[in-house]
Amino acid sequence: MILAQTKNLSVQMGGHIALRNVDFSINSGEIVTIVGPNGSGKSTLLRVLIGAIRPASGTVTVSSNLRIGYVPQKIGIDPTLPITVRRFLSLPTRRKEGDIQKALGRVQATELENKQMFALSGGQFQRVLLARALLEQPELLILDEPTTGLDQPGSAALYRLIEEIRTDLGTAVLMVSHELHVVMSASDRVVCLNGHVCCHGTPDNVASAPEYRALFGSGTQGALALYRHDHDHTHEHDDHEGCTHA
Ligand code: ADP
Ligand code: MG
Repeated sequence: MILAQTKNLSVQMGGHIALRNVDFSINSGEIVTIVGPNGSGKSTLLRVLIGAIRPASGTVTVSSNLRIGYVPQKIGIDPTLPITVRRFLSLPTRRKEGDIQKALGRVQATELENKQMFALSGGQFQRVLLARALLEQPELLILDEPTTGLDQPGSAALYRLIEEIRTDLGTAVLMVSHELHVVMSASDRVVCLNGHVCCHGTPDNVASAPEYRALFGSGTQGALALYRHDHDHTHEHDDHEGCTHA
Protein backbone atom coordinates (compact mmCIF):
# COMPACT_ATOMS: atom_id res chain seq x y z
CA MET A 1 0.00 0.00 0.00
CA ILE A 2 1.31 3.43 -0.93
CA LEU A 3 1.63 5.64 2.15
CA ALA A 4 2.89 8.81 0.50
CA GLN A 5 3.44 9.85 -3.06
CA THR A 6 4.40 12.84 -5.17
CA LYS A 7 3.74 13.26 -8.87
CA ASN A 8 5.51 15.79 -11.03
CA LEU A 9 6.34 17.72 -7.87
CA SER A 10 8.14 21.03 -8.18
CA VAL A 11 9.07 23.24 -5.23
CA GLN A 12 10.43 26.79 -5.11
CA MET A 13 12.63 27.83 -2.23
CA GLY A 14 13.87 31.40 -1.87
CA GLY A 15 13.19 32.22 -5.51
CA HIS A 16 14.86 29.20 -7.03
CA ILE A 17 13.64 25.74 -7.92
CA ALA A 18 14.65 23.26 -5.22
CA LEU A 19 12.79 20.30 -6.72
CA ARG A 20 11.72 19.73 -10.28
CA ASN A 21 9.27 17.09 -11.59
CA VAL A 22 9.83 14.64 -8.75
CA ASP A 23 7.86 11.39 -8.81
CA PHE A 24 8.28 9.62 -5.51
CA SER A 25 6.43 7.04 -3.44
CA ILE A 26 6.89 4.93 -0.34
CA ASN A 27 4.92 1.80 0.56
CA SER A 28 4.03 0.48 3.98
CA GLY A 29 6.88 -1.35 5.66
CA GLU A 30 9.51 -0.15 3.18
CA ILE A 31 12.87 1.43 3.99
CA VAL A 32 13.65 4.07 1.38
CA THR A 33 16.81 6.13 1.53
CA ILE A 34 17.37 9.42 -0.23
CA VAL A 35 20.92 10.31 -1.17
CA GLY A 36 22.21 13.38 -2.95
CA PRO A 37 24.68 16.24 -2.63
CA ASN A 38 24.16 19.16 -0.27
CA GLY A 39 21.38 21.44 -1.45
CA SER A 40 19.90 18.76 -3.73
CA GLY A 41 16.44 19.08 -2.15
CA LYS A 42 16.45 16.05 0.18
CA SER A 43 15.17 17.90 3.25
CA THR A 44 12.77 19.83 1.06
CA LEU A 45 11.19 16.61 -0.22
CA LEU A 46 10.73 15.34 3.34
CA ARG A 47 9.20 18.63 4.42
CA VAL A 48 6.77 18.57 1.52
CA LEU A 49 5.65 15.09 2.61
CA ILE A 50 4.97 16.21 6.19
CA GLY A 51 3.03 19.18 4.86
CA ALA A 52 5.48 21.87 6.02
CA ILE A 53 6.17 23.16 2.49
CA ARG A 54 3.68 23.68 -0.29
CA PRO A 55 4.53 22.54 -3.78
CA ALA A 56 4.76 25.07 -6.61
CA SER A 57 3.20 22.47 -8.88
CA GLY A 58 2.45 18.77 -9.02
CA THR A 59 0.64 16.68 -6.43
CA VAL A 60 1.42 15.28 -3.00
CA THR A 61 -0.79 12.46 -1.76
CA VAL A 62 -0.51 11.12 1.76
CA SER A 63 -2.82 8.31 2.87
CA SER A 64 -5.56 9.57 5.14
CA ASN A 65 -4.79 9.89 8.85
CA LEU A 66 -1.27 8.62 8.24
CA ARG A 67 0.70 8.79 11.47
CA ILE A 68 4.14 10.21 10.72
CA GLY A 69 7.09 10.36 13.12
CA TYR A 70 9.47 13.03 11.88
CA VAL A 71 13.01 13.73 13.01
CA PRO A 72 14.29 16.95 11.41
CA GLN A 73 17.87 17.46 10.34
CA LYS A 74 18.52 20.02 13.05
CA ILE A 75 16.89 20.47 16.42
CA GLY A 76 17.87 23.54 18.34
CA ILE A 77 17.98 23.00 22.07
CA ASP A 78 19.11 25.96 24.13
CA PRO A 79 21.98 24.56 26.25
CA THR A 80 21.23 27.12 28.98
CA LEU A 81 17.71 25.75 29.47
CA PRO A 82 17.77 22.60 31.57
CA ILE A 83 15.37 19.97 30.25
CA THR A 84 15.35 16.30 31.07
CA VAL A 85 14.85 13.58 28.49
CA ARG A 86 11.49 12.74 30.06
CA ARG A 87 10.27 16.33 29.78
CA PHE A 88 11.61 16.62 26.22
CA LEU A 89 9.64 13.53 25.25
CA SER A 90 6.50 15.11 26.67
CA LEU A 91 6.80 18.19 24.46
CA PRO A 92 4.84 19.41 22.63
CA THR A 93 2.39 16.58 23.37
CA ARG A 94 2.03 15.41 26.94
CA ARG A 95 2.86 11.68 27.17
CA LYS A 96 2.13 9.01 29.75
CA GLU A 97 5.08 7.81 31.81
CA GLY A 98 4.47 4.25 30.59
CA ASP A 99 4.58 5.33 26.96
CA ILE A 100 7.78 7.29 27.52
CA GLN A 101 9.43 4.27 29.10
CA LYS A 102 8.28 2.03 26.29
CA ALA A 103 9.65 4.38 23.63
CA LEU A 104 12.97 4.71 25.43
CA GLY A 105 13.09 0.93 25.83
CA ARG A 106 12.56 0.52 22.09
CA VAL A 107 15.68 2.59 21.38
CA GLN A 108 17.66 0.94 24.20
CA ALA A 109 17.87 4.13 26.21
CA THR A 110 15.77 3.61 29.36
CA GLU A 111 18.65 4.78 31.53
CA LEU A 112 18.53 8.24 29.94
CA GLU A 113 15.10 9.25 31.21
CA ASN A 114 16.30 11.59 33.95
CA LYS A 115 19.38 12.91 32.15
CA GLN A 116 19.63 16.46 30.88
CA MET A 117 19.25 16.76 27.10
CA PHE A 118 22.42 18.84 26.77
CA ALA A 119 24.41 16.17 28.63
CA LEU A 120 23.70 13.45 26.05
CA SER A 121 26.29 12.13 23.62
CA GLY A 122 25.54 12.39 19.90
CA GLY A 123 24.33 8.80 19.73
CA GLN A 124 22.17 9.14 22.84
CA PHE A 125 20.66 12.36 21.49
CA GLN A 126 19.70 10.68 18.20
CA ARG A 127 18.11 7.79 20.11
CA VAL A 128 16.03 10.18 22.15
CA LEU A 129 14.88 11.94 18.96
CA LEU A 130 13.94 8.55 17.56
CA ALA A 131 12.05 7.71 20.76
CA ARG A 132 10.13 10.97 20.46
CA ALA A 133 9.17 10.13 16.88
CA LEU A 134 8.06 6.64 18.00
CA LEU A 135 5.68 8.16 20.55
CA GLU A 136 3.53 9.12 17.55
CA GLN A 137 3.10 5.39 16.89
CA PRO A 138 4.08 6.17 13.34
CA GLU A 139 3.20 4.17 10.28
CA LEU A 140 5.88 6.20 8.54
CA LEU A 141 9.12 7.34 10.17
CA ILE A 142 10.85 10.20 8.39
CA LEU A 143 14.46 10.73 9.46
CA ASP A 144 16.58 13.54 8.05
CA GLU A 145 20.25 12.55 8.35
CA PRO A 146 19.73 10.70 11.63
CA THR A 147 23.39 9.78 11.99
CA THR A 148 24.83 13.28 11.71
CA GLY A 149 27.62 13.66 14.23
CA LEU A 150 27.94 9.94 14.94
CA ASP A 151 31.08 7.93 14.35
CA GLN A 152 30.88 4.88 12.10
CA PRO A 153 30.06 2.29 14.78
CA GLY A 154 27.47 4.71 16.16
CA SER A 155 25.90 5.12 12.73
CA ALA A 156 25.88 1.40 12.08
CA ALA A 157 24.19 0.80 15.45
CA LEU A 158 21.54 3.41 14.70
CA TYR A 159 20.78 1.89 11.29
CA ARG A 160 20.46 -1.55 12.92
CA LEU A 161 18.04 -0.05 15.39
CA ILE A 162 16.01 1.52 12.58
CA GLU A 163 15.84 -1.84 10.80
CA GLU A 164 14.74 -3.53 14.02
CA ILE A 165 11.97 -0.98 14.44
CA ARG A 166 10.81 -1.64 10.91
CA THR A 167 10.82 -5.41 11.48
CA ASP A 168 9.14 -5.30 14.90
CA LEU A 169 6.61 -2.53 14.31
CA GLY A 170 6.15 -2.73 10.53
CA THR A 171 6.90 0.97 10.29
CA ALA A 172 7.90 2.32 6.89
CA VAL A 173 11.09 4.39 7.04
CA LEU A 174 12.09 7.25 4.78
CA MET A 175 15.51 8.61 5.55
CA VAL A 176 18.17 10.87 4.17
CA SER A 177 21.73 9.74 4.50
CA HIS A 178 25.22 10.57 3.35
CA GLU A 179 26.66 7.23 4.37
CA LEU A 180 26.04 5.60 1.06
CA HIS A 181 27.83 2.31 1.55
CA VAL A 182 26.23 1.68 4.96
CA VAL A 183 22.78 2.77 3.89
CA MET A 184 22.78 0.71 0.73
CA SER A 185 22.53 -2.55 2.61
CA ALA A 186 19.89 -1.27 5.04
CA SER A 187 17.53 0.02 2.35
CA ASP A 188 14.92 -1.61 0.15
CA ARG A 189 15.09 1.25 -2.31
CA VAL A 190 17.37 4.21 -2.88
CA VAL A 191 16.44 7.48 -4.54
CA CYS A 192 19.29 9.64 -5.76
CA LEU A 193 18.24 13.27 -5.83
CA ASN A 194 19.87 16.32 -7.35
CA GLY A 195 17.03 18.80 -7.67
CA HIS A 196 15.32 16.06 -9.66
CA VAL A 197 15.39 12.27 -9.41
CA CYS A 198 18.71 11.27 -10.98
CA CYS A 199 18.08 7.57 -10.54
CA HIS A 200 16.25 5.23 -8.22
CA GLY A 201 15.78 1.55 -7.62
CA THR A 202 17.24 -1.22 -5.52
CA PRO A 203 20.52 -0.31 -3.81
CA ASP A 204 22.47 -2.43 -6.31
CA ASN A 205 20.79 -0.85 -9.30
CA VAL A 206 21.43 2.64 -8.04
CA ALA A 207 25.04 1.92 -7.12
CA SER A 208 25.77 0.83 -10.66
CA ALA A 209 23.76 3.57 -12.41
CA PRO A 210 25.91 6.01 -14.39
CA GLU A 211 23.92 8.95 -12.97
CA TYR A 212 24.76 7.85 -9.45
CA ARG A 213 28.41 7.29 -10.26
CA ALA A 214 28.65 10.71 -11.85
CA LEU A 215 27.60 12.19 -8.50
CA PHE A 216 29.28 9.89 -6.04
CA GLY A 217 31.95 7.89 -7.77
CA SER A 218 31.91 4.15 -7.22
CA GLY A 219 32.50 1.67 -4.43
CA THR A 220 33.70 2.77 -1.03
CA GLN A 221 35.11 5.93 -2.53
CA GLY A 222 31.54 7.20 -2.70
CA ALA A 223 31.73 9.22 0.49
CA LEU A 224 34.97 10.81 -0.62
CA ALA A 225 33.53 11.68 -4.01
CA LEU A 226 30.60 13.29 -2.25
CA TYR A 227 32.96 15.35 -0.15
CA ARG A 228 34.87 16.54 -3.19
CA HIS A 229 31.58 17.24 -4.84
CA ASP A 230 30.50 19.57 -2.05
CA HIS A 231 33.70 21.51 -2.10
CA ASP A 232 34.71 21.71 -5.71
CA HIS A 233 31.90 23.33 -7.58
CA THR A 234 33.59 24.24 -10.84
CA HIS A 235 34.89 20.78 -11.54
CA GLU A 236 32.08 18.65 -10.17
CA HIS A 237 29.37 20.87 -11.52
CA ASP A 238 30.00 19.51 -14.99
CA ASP A 239 29.10 16.10 -13.70
CA HIS A 240 25.72 17.31 -12.42
CA GLU A 241 24.83 18.51 -15.84
CA GLY A 242 25.17 14.97 -17.06
CA CYS A 243 22.64 13.92 -14.47
CA THR A 244 19.45 15.00 -16.16
CA HIS A 245 17.29 11.91 -16.19
CA ALA A 246 13.96 12.43 -14.49
P1 ADP B 1 19.50 19.10 1.12
O1 ADP B 1 18.65 18.65 2.28
O2 ADP B 1 19.56 18.11 0.02
O3 ADP B 1 20.87 19.53 1.53
P2 ADP B 1 17.58 21.26 1.01
O4 ADP B 1 16.31 20.56 0.69
O5 ADP B 1 17.79 21.68 2.43
O6 ADP B 1 18.80 20.40 0.48
O7 ADP B 1 17.69 22.56 0.12
C1 ADP B 1 17.41 22.56 -1.26
C2 ADP B 1 17.61 23.94 -1.83
O8 ADP B 1 16.65 24.84 -1.28
C3 ADP B 1 18.98 24.53 -1.51
O9 ADP B 1 19.41 25.25 -2.61
C4 ADP B 1 18.71 25.45 -0.34
O10 ADP B 1 19.62 26.51 -0.32
C5 ADP B 1 17.30 25.92 -0.62
N1 ADP B 1 16.58 26.19 0.64
C6 ADP B 1 16.33 25.31 1.62
N2 ADP B 1 15.63 25.88 2.62
C7 ADP B 1 15.45 27.17 2.26
C8 ADP B 1 14.82 28.28 2.86
N3 ADP B 1 14.20 28.19 4.04
N4 ADP B 1 14.85 29.46 2.18
C9 ADP B 1 15.44 29.56 0.98
N5 ADP B 1 16.05 28.56 0.36
C10 ADP B 1 16.07 27.37 0.98
MG1 MG C 1 19.08 18.40 4.24
